Amino acid sequence: MSLVVQKYGGTSVGTVDRIKHIAERIAAMQKDNHRIVVVVSAMNDETDRLMELAREISDQPDQRELDLLLSSGERVTIALVAMTLKEMGVEAQSFTGRQVGIFTDTTHTKARIERISAARITTALEHNLVPVVAGFQGINEQSDVTTLGRGGSDLTAIALAASLHADRCEIYTDVDGVYTADPRIVPTAKRLDRISYEEMLEMASLGAKVLQDRAVVFAANHQVRIVVKSSFTEGPGTEVIKEHKEMERNAVSAVTYDRNQAKVTLIGVPDTPGIAARIFEPVAKADIIVDMIIQNVGQDSMTDVSFTVPKDDVPMAVEVMNRVSQEIHAKRVEVMQNIAKVSLVGVGMRSHSGVAAKMFVVMANKGINIMMISTSEIKISCVIEEKHVETAVELLHKEFELDETTSIQ
Ligand code: ASP
Ligand code: MG
Repeated sequence: MSLVVQKYGGTSVGTVDRIKHIAERIAAMQKDNHRIVVVVSAMNDETDRLMELAREISDQPDQRELDLLLSSGERVTIALVAMTLKEMGVEAQSFTGRQVGIFTDTTHTKARIERISAARITTALEHNLVPVVAGFQGINEQSDVTTLGRGGSDLTAIALAASLHADRCEIYTDVDGVYTADPRIVPTAKRLDRISYEEMLEMASLGAKVLQDRAVVFAANHQVRIVVKSSFTEGPGTEVIKEHKEMERNAVSAVTYDRNQAKVTLIGVPDTPGIAARIFEPVAKADIIVDMIIQNVGQDSMTDVSFTVPKDDVPMAVEVMNRVSQEIHAKRVEVMQNIAKVSLVGVGMRSHSGVAAKMFVVMANKGINIMMISTSEIKISCVIEEKHVETAVELLHKEFELDETTSIQ
């Protein structure tokens, strides 16, 4: 008898009809002799709606209260899903993060899971109940509600799968797997049968919304087998597993993009030792995740420092930078919001050369200006103007022959 954790995202529980549909699937799986733990997100755009309500009150709403507000979306869904299952004759029970015992640190809105007790889940399973768990939420040592960052229901599911030693964690969404590019931009994009944790992680942090990046890190550390599937259609989905040799066959596995970045520049920074630390230490303290950093060549002992942050963190980053700017006697702070990051990802880059050069030529031929570049062993990213993002993704997908990919084994 296998134990499967199934996570259903916002669109999969978006209406009562959708909930009935997934409940039927859960019931069928259970009849097939699987033990199932269900983790759900808030319905559709509920979390965004709650966020907007908070933003009507303040640009930077109180984080403790914000967490309580945001966590309410998932509570609605667990009750509805458990109700539906019971109505169909399936024994089920809903559980909040607190009832499961998901203990986190106190970093409100981005809390890290410290331990999971899951005693009630184990008991529920022993009694043949289907536990329906609220994703995205936990509690800290003071019993205050915390949330795990946007997309955090994935993390709940994967962490629960690790803690229960589940056979696999199935992530149900509105796409039938992970693609070589966003099919809305590139209609010839192909579904990948398998990708490595590392590639998935790069793709998640590069803006491919299928899985939360922190959830992928957790899965890799605990070797949780993930399958990304659609709750709307049948199909094998994409497996996310440990890297193996044949995955290197193609130089590039996928093209991704991220519109959710903004560029913050500190102009006229004194070019002296210790300056970078004085700029980025307060940024880290504010829990802002910096992605790319560029320091220009100094002139007259002055330089400019640019970095990218998620758009949501711009108000906080600007506040911190205005303070830092005064302290270190920089000239001013500038923000550019209309940027996007386009990236190539693939473990094949470890063994194929010239990938970066080919990418830059594609951009150059189209007259697309590259503002920032960053690379890792399996990724190359360029920051460009947002208006060019679709063209760049399409051209790169073609140049690296991704529409020819049949599958990456
Ligand atoms: N509802 C939360 C969000 O929209 C968590 C999730 O869906 O994974 O970010
Ligand atoms: Mg999600």
